[in-house]
Amino acid sequence: MTRILPISDQGAVEAALEVLRDGKPVALPTETVYGLAADATNPEAITSIYETKGRPRFNPLISHVADIEMAKAQVSFSPLAEQLAATFWPGPLTLVLPLSETSTIHPLATAGLSTAAVRMPEGFSRQLIAGFGRPLAAPSANRSGRVSPTTAQHVADDLGGRIDLILDGGRCRVGLESTILAVDGAQLRLLRPGGIPVELIEEATGKPVERSPSQSTGDSIIAPGMLASHYAPNAGVRLDATEVGPGEAVIRFGGERLAGEDNAIAVLDLSPRGDLREAAANLFDMLKRADATGATGIAVAPIPDQGLGEAINDRLRRAAAPRP
Ligand code: AMP
Ligand code: MG
Repeated sequence: MTRILPISDQGAVEAALEVLRDGKPVALPTETVYGLAADATNPEAITSIYETKGRPRFNPLISHVADIEMAKAQVSFSPLAEQLAATFWPGPLTLVLPLSETSTIHPLATAGLSTAAVRMPEGFSRQLIAGFGRPLAAPSANRSGRVSPTTAQHVADDLGGRIDLILDGGRCRVGLESTILAVDGAQLRLLRPGGIPVELIEEATGKPVERSPSQSTGDSIIAPGMLASHYAPNAGVRLDATEVGPGEAVIRFGGERLAGEDNAIAVLDLSPRGDLREAAANLFDMLKRADATGATGIAVAPIPDQGLGEAINDRLRRAAAPRP
């Protein structure tokens, strides 16, 4: 049985801490997507995340921290990394940094790498980590390869019966996973576009962010999780659509109609007013809703590629990629 508790419930934090202390995972809301969180220092707890998700173990996890001290106990910060944390934390930016000598993150969470991915989330999840006192490893709370959850109901649909507890904090504010940035001394490399647009990082640091070649092909050792096919609904996804084919549902943007839309199984608009932030927050939910119509395919209109559009288009390409 999976319990669903609203985060406003008096007993929610205590219930979550109990499950976490027991070395088991809890699904919880963050500002990005719902996470499947467990003690990053406990090998059984981490194993349980991989098993619940069906996630390949070579794909390391992000460790979530409550404050900068907790982060510094785990990884070493260059001055540039400090500046990034000061500017963007708490928030949807993950930094990949060298493990520190005092690190207690278990190698299962880092896939044995000499670096760890670390992030300070905002809101409820951060308070829970502070209460727990140790970092929480937390990938998205969905079965590996599926569309990420942005509501507690999405989590229940995908993982109901497989986990003890889902905390319900409503819809996620950002709706896309964090931006992952490798900070190598003074060098910045984008491992995954996400909730913080690259342009903002370049503006804040005055440094160019290198796009790693692995990003699109997905098989580099530096970012083992950048698998080409991911976020896959059941229906096939067709990108840059300008017209609607038979049996297709439509996901469009900015109120722009596609040719033949009147025959579509369903028409969803990521943001009728053309706002990329709104589009990001709606993306995963609309992919799931389009899929649930039973359409044979999902036709997706072109989405602008600047700002958050880069992350939206990254997720759409993975949703459309050939399945393994
Ligand atoms: P997820 O937990 O599904 O949001 O994915 C976390 C992503 O972070 C995965 O794609 C990993 O490949 C990536 N990641 C985690 N740790 C590292 C690391 N030490 N170096 C590079 N990438 C990492
Ligand atoms: Mg995920």
